Amino acid sequence: MRTLRFVLGDQLSRGLSALAGLDVERDVVLLVEVQEEATYVRHHQQKIALVLSAMRHFADELRAEGVAVDYVRLDDPANTGSFTGELGRALLRHAVDRVVVTEPGEWRVFERMRSWSHAFGTSIEIREDDRFLCSHRRFEAWAKGRKALRMEFFYREMRRETGWLMREGEPEGGRWNFDPENRKALPRDVVPPSRLRFPPDAITREVMALVAQRFGDHFGELDSFGWAVTRSDALEALAEFIAVALPRFGDYQDAMQRGEDFLFHALLSPCINIGLLSPREVCEAALSAWAQGEAPLPAVEGFVRQILGWREYVRGLYWLRMPGYAATNFLEASRPLPAFYWTGETELRCLREAIEGTRRNAYAHHIQRLMITGNFALLAGIAPAEVEAWYLIVYADAFEWVELPNTHGMALHADGGLLGSKPYAASGAYIDRMSDYCGHCIYRPKIKLGADACPFNYLYWHFLMENQRRLAGNPRMAMPYRTLARMTVERRDEIARQSREFLAGLDPS
Ligand SMILES: Cc1cc2nc3c(=O)[nH]c(=O)nc-3n(C[C@H](O)[C@H](O)[C@H](O)COP(=O)(O)OP(=O)(O)OC[C@H]3O[C@@H](n4cnc5c(N)ncnc54)[C@H](O)[C@@H]3O)c2cc1C
Ligand code: SF4
Repeated sequence: MRTLRFVLGDQLSRGLSALAGLDVERDVVLLVEVQEEATYVRHHQQKIALVLSAMRHFADELRAEGVAVDYVRLDDPANTGSFTGELGRALLRHAVDRVVVTEPGEWRVFERMRSWSHAFGTSIEIREDDRFLCSHRRFEAWAKGRKALRMEFFYREMRRETGWLMREGEPEGGRWNFDPENRKALPRDVVPPSRLRFPPDAITREVMALVAQRFGDHFGELDSFGWAVTRSDALEALAEFIAVALPRFGDYQDAMQRGEDFLFHALLSPCINIGLLSPREVCEAALSAWAQGEAPLPAVEGFVRQILGWREYVRGLYWLRMPGYAATNFLEASRPLPAFYWTGETELRCLREAIEGTRRNAYAHHIQRLMITGNFALLAGIAPAEVEAWYLIVYADAFEWVELPNTHGMALHADGGLLGSKPYAASGAYIDRMSDYCGHCIYRPKIKLGADACPFNYLYWHFLMENQRRLAGNPRMAMPYRTLARMTVERRDEIARQSREFLAGLDPS
């Protein structure tokens, strides 16, 4: 039987299920660069360059194995610009008995994929994506009958199932969670390591020229591109993270520092999400560092939790709740996205730092995404769809299955608490504690009202007032609502007035 094996741009793994059973003598592997995928949102230029360069390298690696690869470039004049159009053309080029694909990461593409069999009258086998540690079936079984789908309980089950960091049925170190140890600001005498970046090779440079020509008006800088684009680069990036950053990953996981874009973070999400590394091997590398005494337990547990816990959990939730999930808007937020999310031009130093880093690197670390840009969007009541489009555009690792639950659920509480038991709303005090931004800001984090007050301070209370009807019944919000109740009417009025004035001054994008 001759098979056409269609591999998508975030499926660049040699062990991909669509490539299982590949017959080198007869089969053809199809990879296509399509305009629709590069533009359904106007992705950061580095994201497009990353995916196209990694696809071209992957195709070359398959060819080096003797595999027949049919590769359609973006600038091929006959390119129809869509997956469906390109599969249709490929079926005219190759006489095959069937098409094999691996299920896509995004609902949007899955809907298209399901139509192919009918559209082309060809047998299309859609295989499970077994690169994840938890299958859809397994997640559904875990979720069934539960009122609340808390990541913590999912994570514990996954720990038991994998046996990772377990000793005789109990969590290693006697605790499931080392978060309390993992929340330090960066002390002055700790200098983060300089991190491995990969200078673009000839293939990447060619792709960058194409991106500059076709998508030069998209968000973000291109010249600073330094992402791994091959499996061997990705393995090097993993080894570098384990050696230089993992030991202190836990301690400074939540810290933010001017001029330090990467701190002790892994910088591996783009590689993992496009398939150059598997989540399993990344966790196993961290576990092995711990077993050899090269990284402490809180760091390794904190890291494994992000992947075995959060990453698998958000993927499970996405597929469990789509397509309806994206349409919820629990807080009825409707303000347009401010223009400074694109330009970084704002007096709020923390936002400027996070957005400028994002333009430069197509990257911001988790706390910048959650507690700076996400927190501001939450407090300012920005429409979830606009915020989600922004997050999908600006990061090299952004794919809807992981971006949407993180933004819609975690950052914006738009799902009404399915993902998080309370909104991640915070005032300037949190940002001041975890960063050195405030010392370089025109606002003062300790001042609550008036011209010098940090806007996060009054916007925080304004958010609570505006959402009292929706949030006051949440037991985890009882304390802030008690504090609010103790405020004088005059103070509340002044908070509302200053917040309204500030919000009215935001330029919509
Ligand atoms: C609003 C918002 C949007 C986000 N959008 C994305 C996105 O589009 N794509 C994406 O991969 N991550 C997203 N995240 C999660 C997280 O911020 C990134 O995975 C992380 O910053 C990637 O950088 P790193 O590799 O240095 O990660 P580290 O902080 O070093 O963490 C290690 C790994 O854990 C995984 N991970 C950590 N946190 C999460 C999480 N919450 N969900 C899923 N995986 C996680 C990633 O694979 C990451 O590489 C988002 C988070 C928020 C709050
Ligand atoms: S003072 Fe407020 S706005 Fe300025 S950096 Fe600190 S938290 Fe951000």
